[in-house]
Parts: sequence; structure tokens; C-alpha cells
Amino acid sequence: MKILVINSGSSSLKYQLFDMTSGEVLAKGLCERIGGECGIITHKRPGHEPYKAEPVLPDHGAALSLVLGLITDKELGVIEHIDEIEAVGHRVAHGGEMLKSSSLIGEKELEYLYSIVDINPLHGPPAIKGIEACKKLLPKVPQVGVFDTSYYSTIPDYTYICPLPYEYYEKYKIRRYGFHGTSHRFVTAECAKIMGKPLEELKIITCHMGNGSSITATKYGKALDTSMGFTPQDGLIMGTRSGAIDPTVLTYIMKTENVSAQEMDDIINRKSGLLGVSGVSNDCREIWEAADAGNKRAKLALDMLINDVKKIVGSYLAEMNGADALVFTAGIGENDFAVREGVCRDMDFFGIKIDEEKNKNAARGEFNDITAPDGKMKVFIIPTDEEYMIAKDTQNLVK
Ligand code: AMP
Repeated sequence: MKILVINSGSSSLKYQLFDMTSGEVLAKGLCERIGGECGIITHKRPGHEPYKAEPVLPDHGAALSLVLGLITDKELGVIEHIDEIEAVGHRVAHGGEMLKSSSLIGEKELEYLYSIVDINPLHGPPAIKGIEACKKLLPKVPQVGVFDTSYYSTIPDYTYICPLPYEYYEKYKIRRYGFHGTSHRFVTAECAKIMGKPLEELKIITCHMGNGSSITATKYGKALDTSMGFTPQDGLIMGTRSGAIDPTVLTYIMKTENVSAQEMDDIINRKSGLLGVSGVSNDCREIWEAADAGNKRAKLALDMLINDVKKIVGSYLAEMNGADALVFTAGIGENDFAVREGVCRDMDFFGIKIDEEKNKNAARGEFNDITAPDGKMKVFIIPTDEEYMIAKDTQNLVK
């Protein structure tokens, strides 16, 4: 069975074509600058040089049409005809309160996705565009939505209700939704496999740390709490997002600097976080370089990141009465040994102890057990694979 996985951003479209029989990725790629004057497409096949071109991509439909052309192309393609694609799985950030598990996307589901665009203005419209483009170009192929939020359908009300007048939840569904759920679900399941125990017997804390970051507590196979909230803005400091902040700081700046709500949204989403504090970059590699060269604000940003992760991990250890494993994943979690070292330093009270050499020398893109011999809690690096999880859910639903 061949499954196409689509992840649509506001001006981008990522794709991966899976052969589910072998579990192989036949082709993958990225369309960028959709809607711009000149687009970019990068198309990769294992064992071949990447193909790059700069076609005009007026919308997501044009990008998808190009992708379908490439994967069936005589020279660059990997299948003979688009009929070989049996289903499409879409990454959808927000499934609201209705879409609590991966679902086939029919009229009712699409209508619901439209109805929650106001609480998901950044990620909702591109996901809908991707689904609509696929429905048009592949009308007979089932479309499946895999929602980042659905992993959190199990979190209890005391972790998802915001401490505001209750009517805001009733009127606008303002609550903690949580994001990156597909990644946390994948690495949690991998962690259980590695430990050789059923998920239902394990308490696991997963740190997905990339440009956007979130930490999730999973108790006995069910998500209990997570750091992202109503939007992906909550939780720890991120590349360009502030993470959790005293809300009156925002109203104070808005009043004193005459900043509109939209401008404030932009400040906390695009100009804050590691970039805002360091003034250097949103990329940890560049921030470490600056910090090592003596830049104090770069060092401060990294100290804040490490401390935020510690605080959240500590709170989840309290919520779950300990944990069996701590997992690092995504760009920073998988690659930045110094951040992992900082997070795990002086955590032996909780049984967290890592082998510093193993941590430093951990092979990139692979599973690594970095637990010290006398560490009571397992500490793992597990590369995430959201696309595979989406393909797997899609396969299960269309079967
Ligand atoms: P992601 O959003 O998961 O793709 O992660 C992207 C982020 O991972 C980048 O912005 C960097 O901060 C971080 N990152 C990627 N590679 C490295 C590396 N080798 N060392 C440190 N940080 C890295």
C-alpha cells in the first residue's frame, strides 16, 4: 500500500510517499514560497541526488500538482501512476474538541475544521488548503487527518481548563489543547518498545525540543499534561516564541507602547524566545557559538531554556509521582548534547543521571540510551518520525 503524507504550512508543503509493505520512504520533498514570485521545490529519492527547481507556485493546488507530476515522472518518479496512491494522510495541527482521533476527512470534518479556524488562524488555513487540493486532484483517494491535538483528548479537565471565568471555555472553547501530539505519541510508543514493557505500565516524560518545543507527561499510556496550551505559544521558551509569561506583561506593553493585539501576537510568536533574549538567532547552534565567544545574552537564553525544561520536567514528576523514562527528541533534543546535559544536571534527587560521554558522543539520528549505570530513570534520545505515524494511522483507517 502506497500512502502520501502531506504537511502544509502557510507557504510550504512537505510530502513523503511511503510504501507501507516495506515501510520504506520512496520519495520526499518540500515546496517552499508558495504564493511568492518564485517557488522552490526539492525532491529527494533514496540513492539519488536531490532534484531542485524554482517553479512559480501560486497556491497549494499548484504545488501538489507538481509533486504528483514528479513522483510519477519517468526519470524522477518512483511510481508509474497516481492511481497507486491508496490514501493521503494530512498533518493537521488542530482537531479542536470534536476530532479526538485520526479521522477520514469528509464534508462534516472539513466543515468542522473551517469552524475552528478562528482559534487556529496560523495552522488551520494551510492544512485545509492541502486537504482541498488533494480532494480535487485525487478525488477517489481517501483523505485522512492526523491531528496534533488528538493525543491530548485524555488530559483531565484540571489540566486543560484555563483559570479564567468559566464562560470563556463555554463560549469560545478556550482551553489547553496541546500540540506536537503525533511526535509525543510516536516517541512514547518507541520508548515502551525499547523498555520491553506495555505503555500501560509506564510513566514517560517526552521533551520535543525543536524550533517549537513542548514537553508531555504520559501516565500509563494516556497523556496527562503537556506544556503547550490553547496555542503552541505556551510552555517553555522556544526559537522565536516566548512560552509561558505573566499575562499582564503583555497588557502592560500593549498599553505603554500602544501595541495592538495583532502586533503583540507577532512579538510573542516571532520576535521573542531564544531570538528575543539572545538578539543573535533562534537556532541553538548559533546561540552556543555566540555564548562560547562570550556573548552574555546568548548564554542567558540558553540558561533560560535549560531551566524551563527542568522546571516542567520537575512539575510532571510531581504530577505523576515519578517517571520511568525521560525522552529527548526533535532538532535540539536529538542534536544538542549541551542542552541535554544542562537539563539532566543535578537531577539525581529524581533518579535522573546521564552518562556524559555517551551523551556527548550520541550518534545523530539514532536511538541512544544515555542513562548512567546508577541512573534510576531511563534517559533516551529517540528520533521522532511524525510522518511515519501519520502514514500508519492512515493505513489503519483505510484498511
Ligand atoms: P526542528 O524544529 O525539530 O527541525 O528543530 C530545529 C532546531 O533544532 C534548530 O533551530 C536548532 O535550534 C536545533 N538544532 C538542529 N541541529 C542542531 C545541532 N546540531 N546542534 C544544536 N541544535 C540543533
